[in-house]
Amino acid sequence: MHGIDFMKLALQNARLAAQQGEVPVAALIANSSGEILANTQNRIERDNNPIAHAEMLAIEKAARQKKNWRLNDCDMFVTLEPCAMCAAAIVQARLRRLYFAAFDTKAGAVANGPAIIHNAKNIHAVEVYSGIKESEAQKILLDFFKAVRNKNRYEKVALTKLHKNRTDIISRQSK
Ligand SMILES: [Zn+2]
Repeated sequence: MHGIDFMKLALQNARLAAQQGEVPVAALIANSSGEILANTQNRIERDNNPIAHAEMLAIEKAARQKKNWRLNDCDMFVTLEPCAMCAAAIVQARLRRLYFAAFDTKAGAVANGPAIIHNAKNIHAVEVYSGIKESEAQKILLDFFKAVRNKNRYEKVALTKLHKNRTDIISRQSK
């Protein structure tokens, strides 16, 4: 299986995360024989866990599978540029390569912001490849946020209606 296929699998998994109300991000870890050790989704909402990012969960799972915390023969394929926490964890886990799809200009910390992996080269050098299936990954995220905005708009309308009904009842009672 080629890198692009691993990214495709991660993108499929990200789409499933969106259906669960999670920001659609998924991370896949494969070893040098092409064996998949982890393919995890963001679980922040479901687990009420602010650190349950797809990359953190993938690193934990892959290390357990490998029975070794050093993932130096493993590569990660993640659908969005990792944040500072995940970028630091990727260095700590000694991953060989990082492939990411969409760039995150707000919270990204690999190509953007603190560029943690680049600055951590003295600890461990992770090779970084960016923009793989970027437009597809971006679309999944944009569609998700668009749907959330629409949902919020409907809820606002519903709440206004509810409030209006209650005020009507109160004004009727006070008559
Ligand atoms: Zn993260």
